Formats: sequence, structure tokens, C-alpha cells
Amino acid sequence: MKVLKTKNIGFCFGVKRAIKMVLKEVEENKNKVCTIGPIIHNPQMVDILKEKGVMPVEDVSRINEGVVVFRTHGIKKDEAEYIEQKGFRSIDTTCPFVKRVRKHAMYLKKNGYKVVIIGDKNHPEVKSVLSYLDNDGIVLQEPTLIEAKKVGVVSQTTLDKDTFVNIVRELAGNVHELRVYNTICESTEIRQKEAIELAGKVDMMLIVGGKNSANTSKLCKVVHEVQPRTYQIETNNDIKPEWFHGVHIVGITGGASTPDLIIDTVERHVKNL
Ligand code: SF4
Repeated sequence: MKVLKTKNIGFCFGVKRAIKMVLKEVEENKNKVCTIGPIIHNPQMVDILKEKGVMPVEDVSRINEGVVVFRTHGIKKDEAEYIEQKGFRSIDTTCPFVKRVRKHAMYLKKNGYKVVIIGDKNHPEVKSVLSYLDNDGIVLQEPTLIEAKKVGVVSQTTLDKDTFVNIVRELAGNVHELRVYNTICESTEIRQKEAIELAGKVDMMLIVGGKNSANTSKLCKVVHEVQPRTYQIETNNDIKPEWFHGVHIVGITGGASTPDLIIDTVERHVKNL
């Protein structure tokens, strides 16, 4: 089987940086480390880190000792305050692009705008940004009418551009003053563009990444629109032989939190089919 891959594949800048910071702590300082929620949305990588002693904790109040890591998507304001009050040492691996969303959102609120975050209200990044607005913001996933004179917009970093443009267009037609920050991460945009281009050249696409990874799911959604034979997998164990009937060329891409190791294994597996 012939395999083609996108150029930008494997860890993005923010994930690489976060993993490096955490590994430095466990390997050099031998400290007990916990992350609030999974550090990235890739279960296989989280398992590799657990073997090295990096444990995800869902509830911040259960932390009693060790070094606390703020994950790439950011944590909520009250969680950060709790960690500070308790005097725990912390390592902030929040991606600088996620911090940019927070910064713009806070600026908008301070200047009297009703803040709209375009994204998924259940995603940790959106929850984090909203918490820094003291939950005084609106999260939108589809075009919606807003009752406010001044509206300020930011987006979840992993949003697809079409959703962003559609919602902003609806707002622009209905509010008096609109200020928009396109905070979609460049890495997300580039990966989506490359994946769409590749999907037009192959018979089938495999999108490798965590099922809980927003950027992988978005990638899958946009690619599926141009290549109906698109499947999201976490590892080669998810691959089904019946997908390959009549397929000669397979395209592979991956989410921003997918380790190279998993992509290489999938590539080898598909080539040998
Ligand atoms: S996808 Fe972008 S925003 Fe998210 S961690 Fe990677 S570089 Fe940062």
C-alpha cells in the first residue's frame, strides 16, 4: 500500500514544549509531579508519562504534595489560586497561544465588550478562558443572535476557520460594535489546510490522534468533507481491514498531540497491508 503523509505531523510547538518541561522536572529533579487533567489529549502519551511518575489529577483539592503542572490547555483561575494559596511549586506549560486567547478576552472584558468565545463550552481551554472572565462571557458553537451593543470575539485555538467566519459574520450583521481577535492557532490552520490538500490526492485518509483531542476531531471533520473515506484512529489497533477495499493510496495525518512513535507505527502497519 502506498502511503503519503502531511508535512506537519506529530507534536505541535505547544505540546513539544509542555512535554519537554515535564520530562525535565521528573528526570533532572526526580520530583513527584501531577497534572491537573491530562497534560495533553493523547491517552497513549499520558500513559507513557504515568510510567515516569507524572500523574493526572482531576480534582485540584486532592493534591497534597509534589509539583503541580498547569497543562497545555490552561487551568481555571480558581485552580491556579488554590495552588498558589497552598504554596505548591508549579510549572506552567500552558501554551503561549492559549494564553493569548485569555489575554485578548480579558482585555475585551475590561474595555466593556460582551465577550464571545467561539468554541466548545466543555473543552478545558474554553473553561479556562471563561474562568478568567469570572464566567462573564458567552460561548458559541454556531451562529447566534447576541443582545449587546459592544461585542468582542476570541476563538478556541483549535477551531476550524469556517465555523469562526460563519459566527463572526452573523454577529457583524447584528451588533453595533464588534471587535474580533482571530485566535485560531497557526498550527491548527496549517494542519487542516495540508490535510485537505492531501485528502484530494488519496483514496482514503487516516487521522491519528486521541479521541478526546479537539484538534484531531476538527481535522477529521474538515477532511471528511472532501474525502468521505476518512477515519479517526488512536493507534493501528483501531484500523479495520474492510476500510481498504479498492484503496491504493492512503493519506496519513495526525493531531497536534499525537506522538511521532504512534504515527510511525500506523505508517508501517498500513504499508504492510
Ligand atoms: S495546537 Fe496550537 S495552541 Fe494548541 S498546544 Fe499546539 S501550538 Fe499551542
